[in-house]
Amino acid sequence: MIPMVDLKGQYLAIKEEIDRGILEALEKTQFILGPNVTAFEEEAAAFLGTRYAVGVASGTDALHLALAAAGITAGDEVITTPFTFIATAEAIRYVGATPVFVDIDPRTFNIDPALIEAAITPKTRAVLPVHLFGQPADMAAIEAICSKHGLLLIEDCAQSFGAEAAGRMTGSRGALGAFSFFPSKNLGCYGDGGLVTTSSPELAEQVKVLRNHGSKVRYHHSVIGFNSRLDEVQAVILRVKLKRLREYNEGRRRVAHLYSSLLAGSGVVTPFEDGKGVHVYHQYTLLSDHREAIMKALGEAGIASAVYYPIPLHRQDVFAADYAGVTLPVAEEVAARCMSLPIFPEMTAAQVEEVVAVIKRVVAA
Ligand SMILES: *Cc1c(COP(=O)(O)O)cnc(C)c1O
Repeated sequence: MIPMVDLKGQYLAIKEEIDRGILEALEKTQFILGPNVTAFEEEAAAFLGTRYAVGVASGTDALHLALAAAGITAGDEVITTPFTFIATAEAIRYVGATPVFVDIDPRTFNIDPALIEAAITPKTRAVLPVHLFGQPADMAAIEAICSKHGLLLIEDCAQSFGAEAAGRMTGSRGALGAFSFFPSKNLGCYGDGGLVTTSSPELAEQVKVLRNHGSKVRYHHSVIGFNSRLDEVQAVILRVKLKRLREYNEGRRRVAHLYSSLLAGSGVVTPFEDGKGVHVYHQYTLLSDHREAIMKALGEAGIASAVYYPIPLHRQDVFAADYAGVTLPVAEEVAARCMSLPIFPEMTAAQVEEVVAVIKRVVAA
């Protein structure tokens, strides 16, 4: 059996340190905004090269609080990608704004910068790229558009902790970055968790106030806020894993490059690397006209696979009526042909070879 991710194997390798840290946190009983949250925030900011990092309750909340802190509100438009997890667009709607979907680059699966300017209107306030599957979006091009038009740049880094775009970590280039620590993310905790990054002291302060009931001083509330704090126990786990994240991401890249070299010439389209950044392969996603047959054969061989994502957001039931006239051909085609293979840092060469052998058998038939 080969799973999409091996969370159990990873836990067993770091069990002593995790268990000891959790027990210490239980003994200390500082469960809300305790010392591990503060330490993790400092360590994450240092790792990512941002001045501030603020722990929150989930990646969805990180996006929501980032947009709220930036003052995005009803009547505003936010340009984003249709090929992402629903949370990206949900967060835009939470603040009352409207997602404007711009089609993707067929090679990177990320928002196509060449199409952004045509989507800008007087209501546009921000551009929200997603670094999908750990592949950095084309930040240099997006930054140039944002500064030309006076738009905020907010990054969805839920799948890209440690990915680099032109020499800088994703989440350190926009006004704000939003990260998720959902367990299966490339930096994941053992429950829900998230992080907002920024180098603006004002925005950092605003996110801190919003995550804690709109309060800077206890029982004094300046705005309507939320209960959205990173949990102390999750922060313990994240500190242990952050120390190993470079090694984990290297492991993912090693697995991905082995997949790509073994699959070369087989007819499936393997992931693209533009050489401008560092892809951390949160997912290894390929394109094939034989997706269903490949997934069926993998399943019969005890190998997991998944489709991220089968329906672009403008075609989801929740948005279908609002975007009825919108056609985004690249996102639609990619959604119809994409599939993701198992990838995790501990995956062995023999496991990769086993997956590839099944795929080659199907595409050759
Ligand atoms: C996982 C994910 C989110 C949401 O994160 P949660 O922690 O699950 O709330 C947002 N955007 C993208 C692209 C994601 O993959």
